[in-house]
Amino acid sequence: MSGSQYQREPELGEGLRLHLNENTGGCSPAVIAALRALSPLDAAVYPDYGRVNAVCARHLGVDPARLLLTNGLDEGILAAAIAYLQRDPGDVAVGPGAAGGGRPEGLIAEPCFGMYADCIEAVGGRIVRVPPPASLDTPVDTLVAAITPRTRVIYLTSPGNPSGLLVPAATIHALARALPQGLVFVDEAYADFTDAHFLGELERAPNVVVGRTFAKAYGLAALRIGAVVGSAEVIARLRRSLPPYSINVAAAVALEAALGDQAHLDGYRAQVRASKAKVYAFCDRLGLGYWRSDANFVLVRVGPRASAVVEALRERRIFVRDRSSEPGCAGCIRITAGIVAHTEQCLAALEEILCAVA
Ligand SMILES: *Cc1c(COP(=O)(O)O)cnc(C)c1O
Repeated sequence: MSGSQYQREPELGEGLRLHLNENTGGCSPAVIAALRALSPLDAAVYPDYGRVNAVCARHLGVDPARLLLTNGLDEGILAAAIAYLQRDPGDVAVGPGAAGGGRPEGLIAEPCFGMYADCIEAVGGRIVRVPPPASLDTPVDTLVAAITPRTRVIYLTSPGNPSGLLVPAATIHALARALPQGLVFVDEAYADFTDAHFLGELERAPNVVVGRTFAKAYGLAALRIGAVVGSAEVIARLRRSLPPYSINVAAAVALEAALGDQAHLDGYRAQVRASKAKVYAFCDRLGLGYWRSDANFVLVRVGPRASAVVEALRERRIFVRDRSSEPGCAGCIRITAGIVAHTEQCLAALEEILCAVA
């Protein structure tokens, strides 16, 4: 076992949370109104999903049969692992000691979101990790070369986390063609911050699914709601691997209310754009390396003292993510770039710390 496991983030208490790419401005007030309007009977009966499914399908521009709402996108990632990576029943001859023998494989391009490896491992699959080039671009040739007859799922992230870089549609199509017997899972958790999506390409790529979450841009992280979109056949297969009522009624009404308040989303997106510009200008001024991001965070190379810098920020109750031990990310921290006032507070503290340790 690689020691990979489901892990919640340590609880840090009060402070400025710029470490998990949440919406630190909060969700739409319409969401809170919808939660308040729930009745005792709403809480008492098993929820109907027809309405929220239809509203969300319309929002995404897809047929409802091609949409699976999940308890956070994390559950969608898990559903793909369960549906595609569990060992075939005929495979019983392969014992746990058989050095990975015939275990189904899940392919990931590092550095990436930790849940992919956790889920591959949780269902008994083998994690195959492909290292990044210095640019952190998705290494399509290395990924294709890593596909074996046992490969069942490739997890990609666009925009990437922690890089913020898009995966080109051509790369996704190339991987889908190279894995006709398996699934390409395109995690678009940060799609609301960019105009480049794979959703419109799905008709041409039946073995690709797109994952979305309402945790980040819509500010619903605590309510747990995400979505997976794909062909009706693949979506039906994923649905069979999940419990029938994994979305609670609060999340269902919250999603409908959130999707109904696009002005709130637009306001947050404008804050994100302005925040990213401030981070880039800060980095240019201090001579720090960074990646231009299509998401609501920026990966910044602060140098060999990255962990000390994260710790110094934490002492000031500003939380950012230390990514310096991730492949390709030596010296890097990831800063959520959301509400402008929060970004300014973080950058001011960061400048003091960097100047003190220089
Ligand atoms: C935050 C995040 C998720 C998880 O989304 P939830 O809906 O909160 O489960 C999935 N993928 C990536 C890349 C993320 O950053």
